[in-house]
Amino acid sequence: MDVTIFGSGYVGLVTGVCLAEVGNNVLCVDVDPKKIDLLNSGGVPIYEPGLDELVQKNREAGRLNFTTDAEAGVKHGLFQFIAVGTPPDEDGSADLQYVLAVARSIAEHMDTYRILVDKSTVPVGTADKVANEVREVLKRRGTDLEFDVVSNPEFLKEGAAIDDFMRPDRIIVGTDNPRTAELLRALYAPFNRSHDRLIHMDIRSAELTKYAANAMLATKISFMNELSNIAETVGADIEKVRVGIGSDPRIGYQFIYPGCGYGGSCFPKDVRALEQTARALGYDPQLLHAVEAVNFRQKTLIFNKIHQWFDGDLKGRAFAIWGLSFKPNTDDMREASSRVLMESLWDAGASVRAFDPVAMEETRRIYGERPDLVLTTDAMSAVEGADGLIIVTEWSEFRSPSFEAIKKALSSPVIFDGRNIVDGTLARAAGLSYLSIGRAPLT
Ligand code: NAD
Repeated sequence: MDVTIFGSGYVGLVTGVCLAEVGNNVLCVDVDPKKIDLLNSGGVPIYEPGLDELVQKNREAGRLNFTTDAEAGVKHGLFQFIAVGTPPDEDGSADLQYVLAVARSIAEHMDTYRILVDKSTVPVGTADKVANEVREVLKRRGTDLEFDVVSNPEFLKEGAAIDDFMRPDRIIVGTDNPRTAELLRALYAPFNRSHDRLIHMDIRSAELTKYAANAMLATKISFMNELSNIAETVGADIEKVRVGIGSDPRIGYQFIYPGCGYGGSCFPKDVRALEQTARALGYDPQLLHAVEAVNFRQKTLIFNKIHQWFDGDLKGRAFAIWGLSFKPNTDDMREASSRVLMESLWDAGASVRAFDPVAMEETRRIYGERPDLVLTTDAMSAVEGADGLIIVTEWSEFRSPSFEAIKKALSSPVIFDGRNIVDGTLARAAGLSYLSIGRAPLT
């Protein structure tokens, strides 16, 4: 089938590549000429495991092409996927300007029936807005071409995006038109073979399903973080509590790890956007508000521990940071806890020596060259001469370090573990103090 994807970011590129991989003829459109040039010359603008190989393979097979030409995109595909960003507006609601711009562009250039498939995460009611936008442009053009708008939210996880798309837990298709639902079912058939995972529902429920999923996951994290702070206060160990509650199948072990807060391009913005949607309609979503408030506080926790440990005397100190991306296996630093931490350290007059397996370039792009930020070529170089080691992202390679080497390299022997991933008793045995989340310090 012929498919067009507007937006070649994490979602658009992965969707395009995976649809091409099963034999479709995919044209990806993006407004960023640098991104398109890079893709056309065989590069990939983001880090995502397995993505480079699939882009290369499908480009070479001629099934995957890239352009900045929106008109060519509209002419190409029966399916017109919208996978552009929906960043937070000033009040936290989703900014729909990019989604609506794509809708107008499709309406401007279409000359036959088109299916607009919304993959971006958008508030309930957006499909109606998209349809209105298209109708207005078509009216101005003096035509009444047929079209459909489908809500098809994406659930992929950065770091495992290809696998999530290829083997989805569910495929949500929101449309009131049974014929369009069947066309989407056919497009997704290669990803839906072992058993039926396609869930067909009305458009509004599909739009809300995406927010509901992210809000639920964010709630689990904030709940555990709230509990971890209580555990510290009452002298309990949150890791023991975690194992104790996770064994109940109604609770389960997934997504109940305590830590220094969630980040990324989805949870923070989606929880806020859902809160705003509810507020705009006169409902006070108290739980959602608390989920974000707890997370905001959690992102300052490590800095507060450091501040307390050094009696507020941080000026002129240097700290090693392991992990900058918002989670492992991605270079995405949107709303990452590392950013709150680094900025607080800089405000306090301290400097940072940081290492991340893939997010160094992204860090350079965000912060540029500055004297209080040294990006090192490996994890141990970051620790050299630092006043403490802070673990912010739970990359596998940080889990079993040589505590003896860390002790030797640090000028002040203390580890702040923002993800509870290293063995504190081993750190302590090597002569390091160890502070973590939701447990008593080992000093
Ligand atoms: P992104 O910022 O990585 O990519 C968006 C792309 O859209 C950019 O390359 C931008 O240049 C392009 N763009 C903007 N306006 C355009 C236009 N008019 N025509 C063509 N291209 C245009 O964003 P992302 O992370 O891929 O997220 C896209 C959407 O998917 C968001 O709504 C997000 O909430 C949602 N989502 C993201 C994830 C994730 O893990 N990143 C997962 C599920 C859903």
